[in-house]
Amino acid sequence: MSSPRDRISETGEKQSSHNDSNVKKVVAIMSGKGGVGKSSITSLFALKLSRHGCKVGIIDADITGPSIPKIFGVNKRIETSGGKMLPAVTSGGVKIVSMNLLLEQEDDPILWKGPKAGGAVKQFWKDVDWGELDYLLIDLPPGTSDVPLSVLKSLPVDGIIVITSPQDLALMVVKKAVKMASRSGIPILGLVENMSYIKCPHCQEEYDIFGPSHAKESAAVIGVPLLGVVPIDTELTRLSDQGKVEEYWGEVDLRMNLFFALCDNSC
Ligand code: ADP
Repeated sequence: MSSPRDRISETGEKQSSHNDSNVKKVVAIMSGKGGVGKSSITSLFALKLSRHGCKVGIIDADITGPSIPKIFGVNKRIETSGGKMLPAVTSGGVKIVSMNLLLEQEDDPILWKGPKAGGAVKQFWKDVDWGELDYLLIDLPPGTSDVPLSVLKSLPVDGIIVITSPQDLALMVVKKAVKMASRSGIPILGLVENMSYIKCPHCQEEYDIFGPSHAKESAAVIGVPLLGVVPIDTELTRLSDQGKVEEYWGEVDLRMNLFFALCDNSC
């Protein structure tokens, strides 16, 4: 099977990288609906990768609800050099590009839809000097609208991770997301179920406050590996709200071996 990068050269449809950057692998994080913790899990993947010694960047493609800069406590406007945008860099060294970092005021609303939003994300790929990266994560907008589809079609994405939560009653939403992914011909690396349970800090009992987990069932039905079942952790909420996610050291059960394998375990 040809890789996404081969498909770029075969079809000429996808954006290729530019000479300034050397990005080894691009992984998109998607969800069927908003609020399941897609940006939080993207951030946790970035943390795990960067603590492992990998060079990591994030494109916050959730144009109308960008939260990655807030989670990482980054608010410095993006600068340009030689006609290219320079990503903001977090205290832990993660490079970030987000619409929020281009606005005059970070709480200015963005009312763009469809092609305009998709076009902005393409620029985040080709007009940014990403330098050397092992992994570039793309936090896609939720759902299966035009924007995530156009991002998957036009950027050289090597794999997709689907985030879900036990609130996604039935498998319909996940299935829709998976259909969209398969239409773009990009492999799904796996599924993560977020907010699966909460552990009582006193008795350590686990409570399924959003209902029983569908993680194993969902992964089996769509035929992809289950990469993690992540509990609700109020420490994660607190640090993310304060822009200090890089201070989070909670043990999160996210299987990283597929990620590392993408780069031949080279970082
Ligand atoms: P999405 O990107 O899917 O819209 P977010 O990642 O922004 O969702 O998460 C929505 C809210 O839920 C945020 O306040 C975030 O801090 C919180 N949250 C997400 N996952 C967890 C978790 N596992 N434990 C605690 N809080 C979480």
